[in-house]
Amino acid sequence: MTTERTLSIIKPDAVSKNHIGDIIARFEKKGLKIVAAKMVQLKQKDAEGFYAVHKERPFYKDLVSFMISGPVLIMVLEGDDAINKNRDIMGATDPKKAAPGTIRADFAKTIDENCVHGSDGVETAKTEIAFFFKPEEITQRIR
Ligand code: ATP
Ligand code: MG
Repeated sequence: MTTERTLSIIKPDAVSKNHIGDIIARFEKKGLKIVAAKMVQLKQKDAEGFYAVHKERPFYKDLVSFMISGPVLIMVLEGDDAINKNRDIMGATDPKKAAPGTIRADFAKTIDENCVHGSDGVETAKTEIAFFFKPEEITQRIR
């Protein structure tokens, strides 16, 4: 197993329902460590840039509106196989299809407001982390 970093976002729906702690507890219980974090209100251009890959999708405009509808908690998670591990903990994109015990099954109701984001590959993780964090904002968990 290799140590990886992945970008995690707790989306406005989960923040508004006070599920930040519940969600972070799941990451920590599975051995993922938070190495960077910030709570922000995204601006439209941030959300548009972050989700630019989905620009042509029919849900793009609604996705951007949702992501700026309230504050989000953006984190870098680190650990063995962090990218896939985070995706497993999150569950499927559509909460109705998410496995029991996953974040989306337990805390989300619809595909458009699905509580969390997680990078989907090594290259996207690098790009997404760099989108939100300068290298010096990422800490070393040496103890
Ligand atoms: P994320 O990128 O947020 O971690 P994901 O990788 O599981 O989620 P993507 O296919 O990258 O899913 O879609 C990005 C986001 O766009 C989804 O999390 C969801 O909020 C929204 N989305 C995806 N598909 C749909 C859809 N069919 N209808 C509405 N919203 C959608
Ligand atoms: Mg995605």
